This record gives sequence, structure tokens and C-alpha cells, in this order.
Amino acid sequence: VGRIKTAPACSHVPELPEVETCRRALAPRLAGRTLTDAVTPWPRAAATPLVVTGRCIVRLDRRGKFLLLRLDRGWLVIHLRMTGRLVVVRELPPRTTAAFQLDGDEWFCLVDVRKFGRAWQVARASEVVGHLGPEPLSRHFTAARFSAMLAPRRARLKPLLLNQRFLAGLGNIYVDESLHAARIHPLRTANTLSTGEVRRLHRYIRTILRAAITEGGTTIQNFAGPDGKPGRFRSRLQVFRRSGEACGGCGTIIERSVVAQRGTHFCPHCQRL
Ligand SMILES: [Zn+2]
Repeated sequence: VGRIKTAPACSHVPELPEVETCRRALAPRLAGRTLTDAVTPWPRAAATPLVVTGRCIVRLDRRGKFLLLRLDRGWLVIHLRMTGRLVVVRELPPRTTAAFQLDGDEWFCLVDVRKFGRAWQVARASEVVGHLGPEPLSRHFTAARFSAMLAPRRARLKPLLLNQRFLAGLGNIYVDESLHAARIHPLRTANTLSTGEVRRLHRYIRTILRAAITEGGTTIQNFAGPDGKPGRFRSRLQVFRRSGEACGGCGTIIERSVVAQRGTHFCPHCQRL
């Protein structure tokens, strides 16, 4: 039996930093490889027919929470949703929902306990990711642009920042952390932020995403998988899943409430409504 090698597995509930961590780990394993087959043990994992035989992987990109594989013709787009993770292995692991065979007898697998992860093969990536809002780490996402995006919006900040059409890549963890760092309540109405608050929120969204990428993302639940390295950003979370603990800024007990069906963690002293 040959040694089973995997790329570092992705954490659960992947957001931008976790998908970027995945992209960086997988790129050296996948770029330049030729795809020889595709199988879908869970057929619904294929959002389009996957006809990849003979296609070469040119490079790996990311847009929001989507992983993009640039092929010599067209694109493979993958979204991990809740519990998907990506591994490069010699044999398909249990709970593989879709797998791409590589030259050299390895498989690039989507392993997914809850089976919500999806793969698309499209001529243009925009067919899948064209609806997304700006990329928060792009140099085009300036404080001035963020201000112009917020100005016409009467939504509460928490659901607005989770809306991928508004801004790509943020999920529950990084929205809660960014709002806490910026000292802004999650239920504030978007168009009521002062210029200073917009600049703070813009700065912390970017700072926190960059720090999380540096730490390999955040792992909330442990995941199984040989060589699966947990993300290290969890130890740096200030409010997410820390309700009942003291705020690092002021010592007030962190609260949790439910906003738009999502658990929302905040400091009632630092983040006034
Ligand atoms: Zn506080």
C-alpha cells in the first residue's frame, strides 16, 4: 500500500481566508497537472457535466469563497459550502462527492460530509462568480468605494456584510471579528455609519482577513484527514464563539444574539447600538 499523501485539509465553514489557504496549499500540487478523468460518487456535487479528460490545470485562483482552477480550456469552479474539504490522494477517501483523476495516479477530491459542496465546469468563470461583490483584499476595494457601497443601503450591517453580492468572501466569523475590531454594533443600519466608522471597518476587514490568511485560516470544528493541519487563527478570535468570556478591549462579557438566523457575537460596551 503506497503512502497516502494529502494537501493540508480545509477547515470547516470555509470563508475567504480558509479558501485562500486551500488555494495556496493546492497550487503547487495541481498547477501543470493533466486531468485524466472525473467521477461523482455524489452526482449532485457536479453542478454541470464534468468533462475534463485531457484538460491541463494552468493555475489556481480564488474569488470570494470560490476556488477557481484555470484550465487550458475553460475553468473548474469549486465551492466548499459547509463541510467540504479538498485533498490530493492516491485512493478516494470515504465521503468523496466528486473527484478528478490526475496524471501520475493521484486524485484531487472534494470530500464532504454534508454533501453541499459543488463543482462547475464552465467556459468563463464569470458564469459562476459573476454575481459576486468586490474582493475585499483587492486594491480596488478602497475606503471611498466601501463608503459609496454603504451609502444607499438601509440593511443592517451583519446580514449586509454576509451578502456575497455586496462584498465577496466574508462569513460569520470574519464579519463578527471585523465589526468588533471596528467597535460597530452588528445591527447598525449601513447608511448611518460616519466616515470614521466606514474607514475603521474597511481597515479591519482587510487587516483581519490578511492576518487569518497568514495563520492558515480558522478551524472551529476538528476535521478528520491525514496531515490535515488546523488553521491557527482560532486562538486570535476576539468575539466569535466567545460569548460569556470577557472582551479583550474592555472586560465586558461578550454576548451572543441571533441576527438573520446567524449566531452573532459582540461586546455590548465596545459596540453600542
Ligand atoms: Zn468590549
